Amino acid sequence: MKRGSGLETIETIAVIGAGTMGHGIAQVAGAAGFRVILSDVDRECLSRGIRSIEKNLAKGIQLGKVTEEDCERTLQQIRGTTVLKECAVADLVIEAAPETLDLKRDILRQVEAASDHPFIFASNTSSLSITDIAKASREPQQVIGMHFFNPVHIMKLVEIVLGQETSDETLQTVSAVGRRLRKEPIVVKDVPGFASSRLGVALGLEAMRMVEQGVASAHDIDTAMELGYNHPMGPLKLTDLVGLDVRLNIAEYLYRELESETFRPPELLRLMVREGKLGKKTGEGFYDWHNDKENVRRAHS
Ligand code: NAD
Repeated sequence: MKRGSGLETIETIAVIGAGTMGHGIAQVAGAAGFRVILSDVDRECLSRGIRSIEKNLAKGIQLGKVTEEDCERTLQQIRGTTVLKECAVADLVIEAAPETLDLKRDILRQVEAASDHPFIFASNTSSLSITDIAKASREPQQVIGMHFFNPVHIMKLVEIVLGQETSDETLQTVSAVGRRLRKEPIVVKDVPGFASSRLGVALGLEAMRMVEQGVASAHDIDTAMELGYNHPMGPLKLTDLVGLDVRLNIAEYLYRELESETFRPPELLRLMVREGKLGKKTGEGFYDWHNDKENVRRAHS
């Protein structure tokens, strides 16, 4: 990172983990003109990540949202590697490795050990504490959360999460990077569920309780939110897309951490997970997804 603070100090972004989130983050960073190093421990995952970026860009061209030149320029900005140490030249390191505290801390320590200049370390964690991750760092004031949403090249939000020791300079720099990536940054304290999951999960769980109580069908509850509140998708359809098992895990975590009845997982959710009705990925959840259509038969209506 060059001397001074702010966006001008960030030239190279390293993205660690080329999976669902990492490849998307690398794509938007390349498109914004940053030099990007995309790293993964697994060569096959790295290749798959780069192929996904190529596919996203090709689709963008088809839809008239990306020009051939944008596509070329973006791809030229991105270099793949399986050697973590190569990320040490970056000014901003964004980790999108699996959701394990020890792994994220280990990655942070390794990049710090290999780097000879100050850099910002941002975690894309969806649930871990930034303060806990930062405990592994010699420079906790330069550790922050950058929580992107899936698919990254389409979703406009980035939740910026402040650890206990994150400096204002780090916040300002990362917010400016977020805007250059064409995302709308919001700033959130390091609390379980941040802002997005806490509110989104609360709505989803209440919708399930309403299905349990027979207040209305799953379809009608979703329609209430879609047409009455202008949500692009109702909470139960969204739960089907995220996966009921994933939602149950998050609800259990938030219930434990926040000690609030709002997050007590409804019996219906537990039952459906036990029955293997996990949503779109298993063909059935609150809707029937066989044939890739969500409302052929409304499973829990
Ligand atoms: P993923 O499993 O799709 O990708 C993780 C990648 O990290 C894999 O390619 C894996 O090979 C690689 N990896 C594992 N160990 C590594 C290491 N030591 N160094 C470098 N790469 C390593 O996971 P994902 O869904 O992209 O999630 C990544 C992070 O983003 C998690 O913290 C997750 O909570 C968070 N997140 C996920 C979503 C989502 O919708 N999937 C949304 C927001 C945030």
